Amino acid sequence: MMVDMLEYKQKWQGGILIRVDPKYTSQACFECQHIAKENRQTQAKFECVKCGYKANADFNAARNILAAGHAVLSVEGGCSKGRPLMQKTSEVREEVT
Ligand SMILES: [Zn+2]
Repeated sequence: MMVDMLEYKQKWQGGILIRVDPKYTSQACFECQHIAKENRQTQAKFECVKCGYKANADFNAARNILAAGHAVLSVEGGCSKGRPLMQKTSEVREEVT
């Protein structure tokens, strides 16, 4: 339901929706990519045990998810394949339905 709403909104705005594996995004340090559950001291607080990076836990996770989304784009992006990305997403949608 949530994903459908996001997808609709993105489509409406002419954007794309990239699904990102949320695994470890809340435990991974955005600065050094060190993954440890000790990084997540409380629900709200993130402090990396390796590099000492401190941030709001949700903010750190959001930056990780954004970075993961950009990684997906650079792998699947239309530039190297020479065709627009929107075409790619509509093809994927047709396969699903
Ligand atoms: Zn770190």
